[in-house]
Amino acid sequence: MLEIKKLTAGYGEQEILHQVDLEFPKGEFCALLGPNGAGKTTLLKTIVGYLPYTSGDILIKKRSLQKWSKRELARNIALISQEFSLQFDYTVEELVLMGRFPYLGYWQNYSDKDRQIVAEILAKLDLSNYASKLYSQLSGGEKKRVSIARAMAQQTDIMLLDEAFTQLDINHQIEIMHILSQINKQDGKLILLISHNINLASEYCERIVMLKQGRVLADGKPAEIINQENLHRLYNARLQVIQNPVTKNPNLIYPELK
Ligand code: ADP
Ligand code: MG
Repeated sequence: MLEIKKLTAGYGEQEILHQVDLEFPKGEFCALLGPNGAGKTTLLKTIVGYLPYTSGDILIKKRSLQKWSKRELARNIALISQEFSLQFDYTVEELVLMGRFPYLGYWQNYSDKDRQIVAEILAKLDLSNYASKLYSQLSGGEKKRVSIARAMAQQTDIMLLDEAFTQLDINHQIEIMHILSQINKQDGKLILLISHNINLASEYCERIVMLKQGRVLADGKPAEIINQENLHRLYNARLQVIQNPVTKNPNLIYPELK
């Protein structure tokens, strides 16, 4: 579904990603972990074509990114960015409808079918009562749900999320992860998300990719790669990993900090 081959990319002369090699099959649920500045956002932005790459290639459905038109790409990949600012205020319904933009013909307006798709998504994400509310008047968790709803309206096979729940309380973090897990299972979407919540990634994701200084440090199932040694190499922090007694997945605990 998504292949990243010896990818080198960055900003102008500054190379951030070095020879990144990753392959994601259809329907996978994967978390991208790494310290600040590792190049995680750069990787997602390169995958959706916002940033050019200098060497290597990105294949989407076996076809090089260079050969996709923007419109076609938007029907296949959705990126939910970390920062989302609006120049004008829109209602929740209007914003989610914008996800249908790649399907509009020239001069065409949103159809009844588009509105129906949006209504179904809003219902699925418990947002129906918010349809006519202004985005600026929502809480952080509601805003995140709206951005997921908008990406869902794009009806893509691949969904990328940049720190989908960094500023949310733990209950809303779980809620977002649960929604994503459902989308992944029911719709068979490939989901790649950047996260700083190691335990949630371990519990929900089938695969973890660790990125440091623009290189893949480890890649595998949570049980295989979430361990003290890798976390130390990744974050340069002394952390302790134990097995969750209920789920048997590796979980991070804080050791004696003195
Ligand atoms: P992460 O998302 O893992 O925290 P980023 O991909 O945002 O890291 O950043 C990786 C590196 O690229 C950092 O050193 C950052 O300073 C640099 N960088 C990010 N955005 C830009 C930009 N627009 N122009 C130049 N350098 C940038
Ligand atoms: Mg980032």
